[in-house]
Amino acid sequence: MSPKPPVWCAKCNLRIAPCDLLTVYQGANYHQDCFLRLVRDEADEKKRGQAFRPQTSSSVEFGERTKASAAPVPK
Ligand SMILES: [Zn+2]
Repeated sequence: MSPKPPVWCAKCNLRIAPCDLLTVYQGANYHQDCFLRLVRDEADEKKRGQAFRPQTSSSVEFGERTKASAAPVPK
């Protein structure tokens, strides 16, 4: 019975508690909340057509659930 190793969120840099929802994305761990924010940010940037963060240029595919969860951002 070894305890799980600590997991850190790649977005907010806080530890993700075992009871928190954990999302793994491109080899990084995120709180589900942080991941949804990340997805929304990226979608926002794409909408504006700005290559704001070069490292996000790789093809990113989101599942349908994620798409549905990314609430529309008011303009
Ligand atoms: Zn986080």
